[in-house]
Amino acid sequence: MKPLILLTNDDGIHAEGILRLRDALQPLGAVTVVAPDRPRSASGHAITLHKPLRVTAAHLMDGSPGLATSGTPSDCVTLGCLDLLPRRPDLVFSGINDGSNLGFDLTYSGTVSAAMEGCIQGVTSVAISLVRPSTLEPNYDEAAQFARTLAERLLEKPLPAHVLLNVNVPQRPEGVAGVRGTHQGVRRYPGEVDKRTDPWGRVYYWLGGSPPEDQMDHGSDVEAVATGFISVMPVHMDLTDSRLLDDLRSWFSG
Ligand code: MN
Repeated sequence: MKPLILLTNDDGIHAEGILRLRDALQPLGAVTVVAPDRPRSASGHAITLHKPLRVTAAHLMDGSPGLATSGTPSDCVTLGCLDLLPRRPDLVFSGINDGSNLGFDLTYSGTVSAAMEGCIQGVTSVAISLVRPSTLEPNYDEAAQFARTLAERLLEKPLPAHVLLNVNVPQRPEGVAGVRGTHQGVRRYPGEVDKRTDPWGRVYYWLGGSPPEDQMDHGSDVEAVATGFISVMPVHMDLTDSRLLDDLRSWFSG
C-alpha cells in the first residue's frame, strides 16, 4: 500500500516552505497538504474548541491543490488524521518553517506543536525548520533534501510511541557541515517586552523583536545549528523531570 503522508505548517498554506516539502516528499507516497489558511506562527499547541472549523480547497504557491483550514496547525493534523485522509497517515511532517525552532522555542512553536499532535495521534511525526540569516532569502533545497532522506528512513523504521523529531537546518552559503543528533538547548529572548505609547497617550506593547540569547551547551540543538550542522532532536511528549521526581516524592512522604 502506498504510504500516506500528511503535511502541515504554521506559516500558512501559501508559504514557500510547505511547497518545497511537498515537492520533496511527493515521490514517497500519497501526500496531502492540510495547512492553516493564514500564518499561525507562535500559536503553540492551541486548538479550536469554541467555534466551527472550516476546510476549503486551496492552492499552494505554485497553484497545486491543498486543503486550507481556519484552524491552528494542531487542528490541521487532527482533521487530517481523523477525517480528511482516507486513513491515518504513516507520516506527519510539519514545515518547512521559515525560522528556527530551537531551545525554548519549542513550546511556542506551531510547527513543532503540529508534529506533537501527530505524535499524540500515534503517527511518526517530524517538525522541520530552516534557520537563515535575515540577510539571505530562504533557500529550502538542503532542508527539503534532508526531509526526504529522513522520510524514507522513517517509512522503513517508524519512531517509538510518544516521540517526535524536531529538525533544524541551517542555511549557509557553503552548505551544511553534517547532521547531529542533539538535545534541547537553552535559548532565551531578553528584553522581550517593548512598551510604547500611542498617539492618544495609551500604553501598548510589542512582544519579541530582540534576537535570542543562546547558551552553547555541548551537544545541544542551538550549538549544532550555530556550528553549521543539521540538528535532529528527539522530543519526548513526557515532560516529567525524573531527576527532580525522586526528591519531590520525599517532600510528601512520612
Ligand atoms: Mn512559522
